[in-house]
Order: sequence, then structure tokens, then C-alpha cells
Amino acid sequence: MLSESCVKLGTSRSVIRELFEFGKQRAAIVGADNVFDFSIGNPSVAPPKEVNETAVDILNNSDPVAIHGYTSANGDIAVRQALAESVNKRFASNYTADNFYISTGAAGALCSAIKGLCCLGDEFVVFAPYFPEYKVFIEAMGGKMALVPADIDTFQINFDAFVSTINDKTKAVIINSPNNPSGAVYSRETIKQLADILRDKSNEYGQPIYLITDEPYREIAYNGVEIPWVPDFYDYTIVCYSYSKSLSLPGERIGYVLVPDSCNKEEPVYAAVTGAARAIGHVNAPSLFQRVCARCADMTADISIYETNRNILLEGLRSFGYHCVEPGGTFYLFPRTLEADDIAFCERAKQYDLLIVPGVGFGCPGHTRISYCVPTERIERALPVFKKLAESYR
Ligand code: PLP
Repeated sequence: MLSESCVKLGTSRSVIRELFEFGKQRAAIVGADNVFDFSIGNPSVAPPKEVNETAVDILNNSDPVAIHGYTSANGDIAVRQALAESVNKRFASNYTADNFYISTGAAGALCSAIKGLCCLGDEFVVFAPYFPEYKVFIEAMGGKMALVPADIDTFQINFDAFVSTINDKTKAVIINSPNNPSGAVYSRETIKQLADILRDKSNEYGQPIYLITDEPYREIAYNGVEIPWVPDFYDYTIVCYSYSKSLSLPGERIGYVLVPDSCNKEEPVYAAVTGAARAIGHVNAPSLFQRVCARCADMTADISIYETNRNILLEGLRSFGYHCVEPGGTFYLFPRTLEADDIAFCERAKQYDLLIVPGVGFGCPGHTRISYCVPTERIERALPVFKKLAESYR
């Protein structure tokens, strides 16, 4: 007898993967230029040239036994110190290496944080629209996801619904700003209001409700919009970060869990995260790229291309009658679908070889996610297709 839930996860391909495979099949028939694949969030710009230069420099000038050997389970101490300094410079904070656990991307960070906190039956509050893997991670760790419906006019937090979702089983709240899939950025006011509620509710229930902030898109924000540093607002914050998007390194699997001292004072949260990572085998993130990320931590890939893409797509879609909330960051747009059934809408789009993802999987039906981390010319060529799709509803 196998684990039923794992077999189910392993055999059901995600909608995004299905679309991606469909795109490859169609490209073989109609030509790659005639397939408009906006399904996957794989960064389309190269990492900064310093990434490769640093990797080569490390490989050429380090002891090969050390560089390919194990680091400490929680990451090389010099790497953790360098990341602490990078964060301190940016956010006027005072972290040390001991606040950082180097993880295998944001996925590893989230799994370690969730498992470290979760006792059987604990609830984790998630706001729609949300990154679908949250549900997988929470349930795998024995928790339950409590979903707060979206405010579809702004994609900010629906606070009334949020307050009524919290109860004595609430262990943590997960936020993701800039957000996949809506692109929304939570303002200072939003974070402050969230923190005030969490403080009140923690007092009411006599135990901290933790705030996990999932921030792989922290640097991908437009028009100088501020991405508030969440630990400044709430003591019991755990930051999950990744170099997958900002440095365009999703395949190298480096991120971190940051547990501030303020979060560690009531209960040993850092130890719980460390133990959780050990229990799920997420120790010792890839050694070479730990070092590369430490040396490139203050850089980003050329993310200006995403802003260009966003502007072209947003203006084009709005002119064809699509309703889109302007994204403040990420490389996703999340317009309303032109019929209530978003799955039917995306199926119709497929007939035009336009591959976009139904919103229902993100907990927000009636919308579709468009990943615009693609070459700009693909967006330009796809605009007439989006127009045709809109016209097919008139
Ligand atoms: N969180 C969000 C919101 C994401 O969009 C992603 C990846 O797309 C992840 C976490 C996982 O990131 P990583 O590839 O660093 O594990």
C-alpha cells in the first residue's frame, strides 16, 4: 500500500505543465512562432554576467574538495553572514548568520517553515489568489489551508473575511507580495493592518500567530513601488526568499528562511525550521551556488524587460476590453475572463494556440494568469490573437 496522497500528486500533472506540454506538441505541428505560450513562470532573462564569472572564479580558485563538499546543514557560515550583511544594508536591520537557514529555493524554505510550525490539524491562512503549491505543502505537513477569498477589485487583503477566518487553530498566515498570480503589491497600510490584527488575535488566543512572508519576487516591482520589509511590522515574521526570480536562477535551487530574533523569543522557531529541513531531507543547499548567491546577492537580472512587457500587455488587453488590475510587480497579469467559466475561456484560447492558465487553480475563478516572462516580440505578436479571442465573445 502506497501513500494515496503522494500517488495522486505524482500522477496528476499540474494544469500549467499540461499547457506547457500541449504547447510543445502544437509547436511541432504549426511552428514555434505560432504558439503563444504564457503558461509558465520561468524567468526569460539571463542572470547577470557576474553570476557565471563568479561561478567560474570559485571553481578555478577554490579547493575542489571543499567547494563540492558538504556545508553545514543550514548553509555555509560565510554565506549566511554575507546574506545577513546584504539584507542589513538594504533594510537597516541587524541580522546575523544565525538568523538564516539556506534552503533549496523558496519551495524548500516554505516547506521547512510550514513543517517546523505545524502540529497536526493546525490551520494556515492563505489569501486568494495564491500560489497553488501552498496547499500541497501545508497538507503534506499535516496542516489545513484556510482560504480567504480575493478582493477582485484590488487584490489587496479582504480584511473582514480574514478576521473571520482566524480561530484558535490558526498557526500562521502566509502572504506573498509581489503576488503570483495577481502581481499585487501589499502597501505599508495593508501590512500594518495585517500586523495589528495578528497581534490582537495572538493576545486573544494566548499564542503567537506566525506570519510567513513568501518573497521570491521582492525585487520585481515597477514604478518605484515600495515593498515593505515585513519583519519591521510584526515580530513573529518568518521570511522565505529565493534567488530563482531576482537572479534568474530557478534551476540552481538557492533561497533562505530568515527567522528574526524577535520571532525566536517565545518558541525556538529557528530550531524547528532546522529540524523540519532535516526531517524532509532539505539540508545543505547546493554548495557552489550558495557561494555564488552570496557574492551576487545585491544584484538582479535585467528585470526592466518585464516592465516593458507588462506595459505593452496591459495597454493592449485593456484596449480590447479585458478588465485587468494593474500589477505592481512580478511577471504575471491576472485579468478577468470574458466568461464566468475560466476553464472554458482558457480552452477557447487554446484554439488560437494561446496558452494561459485558468484562475480556479489559484483559488480565484473568473480570471486567467498570463506569464509575461517571455520575449517582448512574443507579446507583440500575441496581441492580435488576444483581440481575436475577445471578438469571439461579441
Ligand atoms: N512562491 C511563489 C509565489 C512562487 O511563484 C514560486 C515559484 O514560482 C515559489 C514560491 C517557488 O520558488 P522556487 O523556485 O525558488 O522554489
